[in-house]
Amino acid sequence: MGKGQSAVTVVRGGTIWTGGARPNVIRGADLVIEDGRVAAIEAHYRGRADLEIDAGDCLLVPGLINAHVHPGNSPRSRGLAEDIDLPDDGAFYHLTLPVQLYARNVLSQDDVAAIMEWDLVAMLAGGATTIVAEQFGPWANWIKLIERIGFRCHYGYTYPNDLGAIGYVGKDGKIVSDAAVNVAAGLTENLGLHDRYHGAFEDRLRIHLSPHGPDTVPEDLLVETKRHCRERGIHAHLHLAQHMSERKVVSSRSKGRTSVEYLDHIGFLGPDVMATHVTYVERDDIAILARTKTNVVHASYRKAKEGIASPFWDFLAGGVNVAIATDSFSHDLIQDLKLAAMIGKIRGGRVGHPNAREVLTCATHGAAKALGRGDLGHLEPGARGDVTIINLTSPFNAPVLDPLRALVYYSGAADIRCTLVDGKLLYDRGRIVGSDVTAIRKQASEACHRLWQAASEGGAMPKETSYGGH
Ligand SMILES: [Zn+2]
Repeated sequence: MGKGQSAVTVVRGGTIWTGGARPNVIRGADLVIEDGRVAAIEAHYRGRADLEIDAGDCLLVPGLINAHVHPGNSPRSRGLAEDIDLPDDGAFYHLTLPVQLYARNVLSQDDVAAIMEWDLVAMLAGGATTIVAEQFGPWANWIKLIERIGFRCHYGYTYPNDLGAIGYVGKDGKIVSDAAVNVAAGLTENLGLHDRYHGAFEDRLRIHLSPHGPDTVPEDLLVETKRHCRERGIHAHLHLAQHMSERKVVSSRSKGRTSVEYLDHIGFLGPDVMATHVTYVERDDIAILARTKTNVVHASYRKAKEGIASPFWDFLAGGVNVAIATDSFSHDLIQDLKLAAMIGKIRGGRVGHPNAREVLTCATHGAAKALGRGDLGHLEPGARGDVTIINLTSPFNAPVLDPLRALVYYSGAADIRCTLVDGKLLYDRGRIVGSDVTAIRKQASEACHRLWQAASEGGAMPKETSYGGH
């Protein structure tokens, strides 16, 4: 690139699914990205290129949006509590939190930073170009990663910010939580992040507000959160109808209302709200979500770990906008697309829906709409040059009759060849540009094993799980 010239990236010869409101499939075309934006899709681009990617045998889709994760939590939770029956009214995470909390005694700040970076490696290797992240614990390490690695992020600082305040399994097997947590201080911190970082790093970072849920955040702070969202023109992201424990707390606080009815009652819902899970819906909940244009974030894998499925197809059929997320524990977004389609068919009792196009639309256009981003979720001139490129030559997904079905039903994260953000390479065949993946894996693994061993000796592991060493 000469001085004063724009940066041009060309992805040659792939099959392009344009996404957006009216998606098209364009075969054997060149995608041209100039100065971070899609400039053209044409048969044979002959102009200058600073970066060329040969994408013959590949499918190009708008950069996938992983609409709900908690940075740094997943690696140390893997294997802790699978196959263990849930506590009464509880969720999978209630079982993992005693070990997460034990980390305070064992892990250094360097350990925590390495685990967070390793968590990010999974999110990026899982196909995401935009990550919607809700942070428990300190935020500085994640902000540094956004700056250094180059992904796009919508970010909130969750309040209450202490994992102990959202409930965990106590010694008697019942869910307990640490009281005395300053929830208002978390909101203040989140607002401070918005003041300081919204639009940072060439606008790759946007800040939203992140109240944890209707059971863990007092009503006055939910109302205040909504007021700040309106004043600042940003959205709020929270867990909703996640488990029966939440259902009972909200019901007792609000004259038997469901969580959805309660948030509607206090004027919280709206197109500026992303509500994750929405599993325990009753009565008119789906109609309320549709009427208020509230966005739902659907996480099939996380819910399947709890032996349950959210009513994904009912949301779509009821006119609710839906995004897709991995949440915690695994970040293979292709796997979540597959599970959203397949578990959606099982729960809905019909094979025709949800289909491959519908789940892919949720992970692109639906998520972009939820984030208020007309520049994401489609590959058309003027859109951001964020692209996920999937190889369709594996023994599992080739030969290709229908590229979207090949992606959703026959591919996995291992088939992701590369991803681009603003036309720049982010993930490339196992490599993350700007990260020493091998060194980070060693450091994060060593720290997790140290934590598991100490937690095992300290009696914080679930009794059904034994630590067997490295
Ligand atoms: Zn979550």
